[in-house]
Amino acid sequence: MMTYEQFNKAFATDEACKEYIVAKRWPDGVRCPRCNRKERVYALKTPFRWTCCNKDCGGRSGYRFSVTTHTIFEDTKVSLRIWFQIGYLMWTAKKGLSSLQVRRVIFGEDSGTDWRTAWYICHRWRAAMKGDAFPLAGEVEVDETFIGGKERNKHASQRKHIGTGGAGKVAVIGAIARKGMVVAKVIENTDTATLDGFVRQTVSKGVKLIATDEHPGYRLLANSLPHRVVRHGQGEYVVGTTHTNSIEGFWSLFKRGIIGSYHKVSKDYLPLYVNEFAWRFNNRKNPNAFADLITTCSS
Ligand SMILES: [Zn+2]
Repeated sequence: MMTYEQFNKAFATDEACKEYIVAKRWPDGVRCPRCNRKERVYALKTPFRWTCCNKDCGGRSGYRFSVTTHTIFEDTKVSLRIWFQIGYLMWTAKKGLSSLQVRRVIFGEDSGTDWRTAWYICHRWRAAMKGDAFPLAGEVEVDETFIGGKERNKHASQRKHIGTGGAGKVAVIGAIARKGMVVAKVIENTDTATLDGFVRQTVSKGVKLIATDEHPGYRLLANSLPHRVVRHGQGEYVVGTTHTNSIEGFWSLFKRGIIGSYHKVSKDYLPLYVNEFAWRFNNRKNPNAFADLITTCSS
């Protein structure tokens, strides 16, 4: 993996960033973002700008687009060099990064740049940090957790039987393949349809083990899947290979990240933070994570 210094050297100018986006976005030649064709797409005099003259697209007057059209960078007034630096910091900050920290690092303490600019850039990156890791195979652990409200400071064992959570609390469900990928998402409630549906959508049919706690929402899984339960309510945490330690490890990383780094995470943005932490976790061993991110941020 590149160091921050190497990264900044590689992307020292906006032009370098744009060339990189072109290479990742259109590996086999520039395509029109509107009609997705390469034919009749012509470069304009201004660098990194093209026009599509396909009849049913831009026609005779042409549809003009740039390297950033239909990407997370679209219409930005901030230089791409800054965007890239923030993307790098988010990729490498294991515990997450607040927009204030980003602002301090990128713009300097007294640049006068609006913190909302940094906040916006971070959120655009988070939106790009998607990518489906499922279906999960092998030994999979599933668990749900609550973010916000007063529950977040309680020990996990006290937090169990809360049901759907009270005001201000948001439920997040996650599944993790041991030593593999995690899939996590915000859910509206913790009823059987939601929990059972999530598991069936997320794990592969050939999964070897699904370990959960005794939440009744998982009770129907055993009808068709190798489901085993560890009864946290009875002080049971590990029964042979049945435990939820890996997913709980991910939750604690996530919670420490959003409590420690983000002073306030509103419900509306929680899915973006879930994206960020799952993406970073899933790319922990991927030296090309940033390149892959540039590919997905323009699709
Ligand atoms: Zn076109």
